[in-house]
Formats: sequence, C-alpha cells, structure tokens
Amino acid sequence: MEDKPESKAAAAVSVKPNMLRLADKEGRSGVLLGTHCKRCGARAAGSNRHCRNCASSDTQTIELSSRGVLVNYTVVHRAASSWGGQVPYILGEVELPERVVVTSEVVDARPNEIHEGMQMELTTRVGGRTENGEPIVVYKWVPSGAKHEK
Ligand SMILES: [Zn+2]
Repeated sequence: MEDKPESKAAAAVSVKPNMLRLADKEGRSGVLLGTHCKRCGARAAGSNRHCRNCASSDTQTIELSSRGVLVNYTVVHRAASSWGGQVPYILGEVELPERVVVTSEVVDARPNEIHEGMQMELTTRVGGRTENGEPIVVYKWVPSGAKHEK
C-alpha cells in the first residue's frame, strides 16, 4: 500500500493556467502571470505567445505583482447565468506596478467600503470543482488589510 497522507486531497487546478499559477498544491496562494514583449516592450495580463500590441512572438512570461491600485469598479446586480457567486458583487479593475490591469471580483468588502485609488491585494478562492472533484482555484482582489480586520 502506498503511504500518501495527502492522497485524499485532490490537487487544485487553476481556473486559467495562463493567468494564475498556483503556488501550492491546495491553491491557497498563487501568482498572476503576464506577457512582456521583448520587441516593443508592451506588457499584458496572462501568458500569451504573441504580443497583443505588435503581434511579435518574441515574448516572455513574467510574474506580476500581487498588489495594485483599484482604478475602476462596478457593482454587478444582475450577473450572467454562468456566474456562480453571490449577487450583488463588485467587479474591480486593479492596476499593477507593471502597468497591467487585471479585472476580477473584489471580495471581503462592501460597495460602500471601497473607492478608486485604494490598495488591493491578490487572494485565491475555490470557485468550483472539476468533474474529478479537484478544486478549481480562482483569483480575486481583496482590499489590503481587510484580511486582518475581520
Ligand atoms: Zn510587442
């Protein structure tokens, strides 16, 4: 018999492997990925083979910062049918120091508690399960410090 104490816990999978690299097997934390174009210098969210700016394939995958500034947000009251979370929810655009904007849900905050210009940090959540029961890990934004206040 194999001796694998963690064998019951299925390894987590990233909702978008080219966007979120899981830092551990359970997906408790992760790193956002981006693309840096060596030809024109443009950067974009997500690891892509081609530059969206100049279409060059001379690109490299970079790790993006896990903290940024909320530059825009929307409170969504009527979600798409594919949305599995709570309603209403906050959809935030966060600009990272790499000058890349990453859009995702803002969690652990009410609409009246957030404002443009506030610091956000990356967090991960389990957003569902695969057919094999593996947790699907999604990336979210949380106001910096919110984890400590609650
Ligand atoms: Zn380019």
